[in-house]
Amino acid sequence: MPSDPVPALLTRATELLQQEFASLPDFELSADPVAMAQILEVTAQKLGDNYPYFHPLYAGQMLKPPHPVARAAYALAMSLNPNNHARDGGRASSELEIEAVRGIAGMFGWPEFLGHLTSSGTIANLEALWVAGQVAPGKRIVGSAQAHYTHNRISAVLKLGYSAIPADHRGRMSLEALEAELRHGDVGTVVVTLGATAIGAVDPLDQILALRERYGFRVHVDAAYGGYFKLIPDALDEPARRAYAAVGQADSIVVDPHKHGLQPYGCGCVLFRDPSVGRFYKHDSPYTYFTSKQLHLGEISLECSRAGASAVALWATQQLLPLIPGGEFARGLAQGRSAALELDRRLRADSRFQPFCAGPPELDIVVWKLNAEPPRRASELAKSTFEACAVRDLHLALVELPLEWFQPAAGSERGTATVTCLRSVLMKPEHEAWLGRIWERLDSAVTEVLKGQGK
Ligand SMILES: *Cc1c(COP(=O)(O)O)cnc(C)c1O
Repeated sequence: MPSDPVPALLTRATELLQQEFASLPDFELSADPVAMAQILEVTAQKLGDNYPYFHPLYAGQMLKPPHPVARAAYALAMSLNPNNHARDGGRASSELEIEAVRGIAGMFGWPEFLGHLTSSGTIANLEALWVAGQVAPGKRIVGSAQAHYTHNRISAVLKLGYSAIPADHRGRMSLEALEAELRHGDVGTVVVTLGATAIGAVDPLDQILALRERYGFRVHVDAAYGGYFKLIPDALDEPARRAYAAVGQADSIVVDPHKHGLQPYGCGCVLFRDPSVGRFYKHDSPYTYFTSKQLHLGEISLECSRAGASAVALWATQQLLPLIPGGEFARGLAQGRSAALELDRRLRADSRFQPFCAGPPELDIVVWKLNAEPPRRASELAKSTFEACAVRDLHLALVELPLEWFQPAAGSERGTATVTCLRSVLMKPEHEAWLGRIWERLDSAVTEVLKGQGK
């Protein structure tokens, strides 16, 4: 592990925080330091049973370490443990949440909006679809077959119909299939994914907005994973760039600071373009709103208690790394993207692999299959390679994807067949500098696997 700046940051900041409350009479905490130290030793050992998510050689799932400033600010806030439900419980941290969320909305070009943090992208999407259902009661929700699996489930919870629209060979929502659904006249909301979870596909938002002119529906953008790529349009290819350029025209947007925003888990965000949707949240909880006449975040959120520490960590991170094009945060995203393009380039030049036939990745997620027949053998080789990489401390992921995404239609029976692929989410800035070492390990792993298979 790299040396950790957090303990030193925290010592100084904790002193200052204690001074803020120095006028209060002292009291002793009834917590036994020796017993706690022993338990933490055991805890540290137990936590060793994890993949090294913090390390550049962890390049598997969507796991990005929180920034040290986020960890320090989170831990600092924990000595107060504020609750951002209401200002009583989280006075300072509610202000910081409002500021931090304004920063995110600003990234999408929304000076006016309604929005707040949530405990996750799932809850943020739930809120967006709940509002969608209030605006258009009884109408259907549709999303691409590559949309996050929770949309279907959320719709069921909300008792709204949900239909999946087929994805094209790039994993993007098919416009023809969408229009066919729209002709039924009962679609209330289209969920448009910018950065689909499996492969990072970007739905053609600009073209979907053109259909909105004709058919009239709400557009909810699920950018839980991909939202921050709004900051690096020049690093994207044309169709994705056009989709991101149009994001401000959506009715609602979800982005997860705990995915690409360098935050600890427990930090999603939902934004509505029309602040008047706040009317749907009206409720009259009798016991939470005594000390302030200002709007409480609890009045515009489906959740009640929420971690004020999440808002504090996010605010601190955005102070250090503002969400602006050309800033350090944006550069970090671009580095992961460039690592993904380089990995894709190497895979395409190597006959042992078969990357996505439609072209390079749209964001920073790379998927590829092993070049072997039949598909079942390619799947087995992918699993063995995954394991052989892990032995070499390189952690990738596996994903099941349509075969036709790798082998252009060679017969109709291909349509529904799937194949197990390798997947790498290159979301750390360090992945760019480490790509050579990642490739060496992948190369060595696959060499061993193929030798074992007598190829
Ligand atoms: C991760 C993800 C979600 C779910 O967010 P959680 O924070 O894991 O609940 C929803 N949509 C997309 C596109 C995602 O990538």
